[in-house]
Amino acid sequence: MINIENSAFGVDERGYYGNFGGAWIPEMLYPNVEELRLNYKEIIYKKDFQDEFNQLLEDYVGRPTPLYFAARLSERLQTNVYLKREDLCHTGAHKVNNTIGQILLAKRLGKNKIVAETGAGQHGVATATVCALMGIECIVYMGEVDIERQAPNVARMKMLGAEVVPAKSGSRTLKDATNEAMRHWINNPTDTHYIIGSVVGPHPYPDMVARFQSVISEEIKAQLLQKTGRENPDYVVACVGGGSNAAGTYFHFLDNEDVKIVAAEAAGFGVDTDKSAATTFLGKPGVLHGSKSLMMQTADGQVIEPHSISAGLDYPGIGPMHAHLWESSRAQFYAVTDDEAMRAGMELAKLEGIIPAIESSHALAALDNLKAGKDETVVVSLSGRGDKDLATYMKYL
Ligand SMILES: *Cc1c(COP(=O)(O)O)cnc(C)c1O
Repeated sequence: MINIENSAFGVDERGYYGNFGGAWIPEMLYPNVEELRLNYKEIIYKKDFQDEFNQLLEDYVGRPTPLYFAARLSERLQTNVYLKREDLCHTGAHKVNNTIGQILLAKRLGKNKIVAETGAGQHGVATATVCALMGIECIVYMGEVDIERQAPNVARMKMLGAEVVPAKSGSRTLKDATNEAMRHWINNPTDTHYIIGSVVGPHPYPDMVARFQSVISEEIKAQLLQKTGRENPDYVVACVGGGSNAAGTYFHFLDNEDVKIVAAEAAGFGVDTDKSAATTFLGKPGVLHGSKSLMMQTADGQVIEPHSISAGLDYPGIGPMHAHLWESSRAQFYAVTDDEAMRAGMELAKLEGIIPAIESSHALAALDNLKAGKDETVVVSLSGRGDKDLATYMKYL
């Protein structure tokens, strides 16, 4: 892990990325968040932490994940496309990089219970996994509606020993689960650590999660150098839900303006419909889940229910780092519709024999917009595998 203390795109002293970020939390949460803020960097850069983190990433998660030259896809797009294979991580996606980091941090803070929120269940599974690994009690809040929609992941969490608690307020989906997980944390401040699943939440979560996920771009640099003689690609591309796989993919390239940063958001039915999750296209500045960022909201500030065919991108906000990348024009954002993503996912299966998560298919679909040249190099984050999405893909066949 390299730190980015002096980057224009890293977090500042106050927990901000440009105009976005901070810790917008109720008084009651202040001691928990402050404990983290004061300790996280010192803990995660200690040698014993780094040794244990890297060993687990290697032996348990299966890192480094391959950087795969996708020859047939490259031929179709007339450029050079490399896929960063986060789909090959244990549990099937990048999320486990973060949960491994946070469970090690929780142990060092003397916490013996974990609370987390989950929407589709992917982060819940990644959290339940590391809790089983460490023998730590795990409570996962999940919207009642999502519990019904995502039965296989609920079963996984239970088999891993986690308690899944239904969130019954509001729309009974992710944002309600997040609110209830935060409430649980407020009521159990001394023995419990809250593992947030993306680069969202109050400072220091976005920065902490980005640092854990930065192993992705650290590996890309070394692998690209070895394969092409050049450590920097021309483009890095990732889908953005909250933005953690994207933050990890961009991290070591943020200050190198030669590397173009590309973000794919979920447009759902389209940004001109009321069924979308493309936050930079439809959102306005506001406070959601403890940080100031862009969020989809009504004129009087109520969160709008997002829509995306992919559960992992179905979030009404984005992390503050991405809001800053958008506002500063450092990153180029594309809104990819459900249909475009499904087509791109189907195409990858046929061209490369890889079935991507529908989230990752959004990043793949964005490639058509890039007009990358024959000699240019494009690295795409293949954030997860598509096994969980087979039923949805089948409806499109
Ligand atoms: C959860 C998830 C995402 C979206 O989360 P980010 O924090 O934006 O990375 C993307 N891809 C997969 C496979 C996921 O499981």
